[in-house]
Amino acid sequence: MARKFFVGGNFKMNGTIESIKSIVKGLNEAQLDSNAEVVIAPPALYLLLVREHLKNGIQVAAQNVFDKPNGAFTGEISVSQLKDSGINWSILGHSERRTILGESDEVVASKTKVATEGGVSVIWCCGESLEEREAGKTVDVVERQLAAVSAKIGDWKNVVIAYEPIWAIGTGKVATTQQAQDVHAAIRKWLKANVSDKVAEETRILYGGSVNGKNCKELAKQEDIDGFLVGGASLKPEFVDIINANQ
Ligand code: PGA
Repeated sequence: MARKFFVGGNFKMNGTIESIKSIVKGLNEAQLDSNAEVVIAPPALYLLLVREHLKNGIQVAAQNVFDKPNGAFTGEISVSQLKDSGINWSILGHSERRTILGESDEVVASKTKVATEGGVSVIWCCGESLEEREAGKTVDVVERQLAAVSAKIGDWKNVVIAYEPIWAIGTGKVATTQQAQDVHAAIRKWLKANVSDKVAEETRILYGGSVNGKNCKELAKQEDIDGFLVGGASLKPEFVDIINANQ
C-alpha cells in the first residue's frame, strides 16, 4: 500500500485571531494536492476558530493533549474535549515540549497511548540534539524514543512519526536529504524488527526542521520521507508549495 503524503503545519505559540483567520482563508482558497493529507496545529486557544472556518478535508491538530480523562488538572486539555470540539489530531513529543517543558519519553508515550486509544491520531515527534548527532548517537536516541512509545501502544494505525533533528528546528539549518533519508530508513528498519512488517510499511515518517518552499521537493523525493512537519513556513504562503511538494 502506498503511503499517503502528509503535511502538518505546527503554528507553535504564534498568531492572532486575525492572522490565523487569514492563514485559514489562504488554505481554503489554494489549489492543494488532492493526494496529500493536511493537518494544521494552531495554539489551543484558536483550535475551535480554525475548525469553524477551515474547509472540510483539512484536519486540525492540538499541539499537546493530557493523558487523564478529566478532573483537577489545571491548564490541561483532554482527549475527549478535543474530540468534542472536532479536533481529531494532536502533535505529541515535540522537542520543545520535551526540552523546555520537561516531558520524558514515558510521559510522551503515555499521552500517545491515551490519545490513540481515545480516537485522536498523533503526530509523534522524535529526534536528536546537535550534541547527540556529533557524538554519533542519532539512531540510538531515536530508537530509545521509539522503544518507549512502542512499549505503551498496541496500534500504530493512528500514528504518524515526525523525525525532527533538534538542531534543524527553527534554525534555517535543514538536514541534508541524505541525513534525513538515513534516519527515516533506520526508523523503518526499527519498526520492522520491533513491531511488524506491516507497521514498518504503512507508517508515514515525516521530516521536520527548517522545511521551506525551496528545499521540500528534493526531500519529498526520498524513498522513506512521506511528508513534512512544518513550523515557521506553515505561517507563510509557501506552506501551499510544501503541501504540493509531491505533485
Ligand atoms: P521549523 O519547525 O519548520 O520552524 O524548523 C519545525 C517543527 O518544530 O515542527
